[in-house]
Amino acid sequence: MLALIIPIGLIILLFCYIHIQQMIWNCKNNIEPDTSSSIHTSMSVSTREIDFEEPIKPTILFIKDISQSIVKKEEGDSENLDVCVICIEKYKDGDKILSLNCNHSYHKECISPWIKKQIENNIKPKCPTCRTPIDYEWKIEVNEADNGVIV
Ligand SMILES: [Zn+2]
Ligand SMILES: [Zn+2]
Repeated sequence: MLALIIPIGLIILLFCYIHIQQMIWNCKNNIEPDTSSSIHTSMSVSTREIDFEEPIKPTILFIKDISQSIVKKEEGDSENLDVCVICIEKYKDGDKILSLNCNHSYHKECISPWIKKQIENNIKPKCPTCRTPIDYEWKIEVNEADNGVIV
């Protein structure tokens, strides 16, 4: 009797063991495709976000809170006109002048390359005379309400 029970018991144990192994194997197989598909989804989402942001590139260099004026020389006034310290020339009739917040003024065509060069070199642009920082911003478009000058 005992000689019969032992082999049957062993067979049942072996059967259970194979069954458990199969269950574990199935679980692994179910988890793996799930994780890979979720990674794939998050990657495609981030790629889409980058694609969406890329085309917007502000290219207009806008100097905030400054004014632009055109020199109007009055008769007999020429001796009193200011000098642009960048090109060391007196302002003459029709010159475009930019007046910075520090009240220093320059030819627009003289100060614009100066500001751009400093920004290109990762230096915060400053007034060439008194070194007051020049407040600038890169814009996509400029509205009439914006107070400042495009350089
Ligand atoms: Zn000048
Ligand atoms: Zn200044």
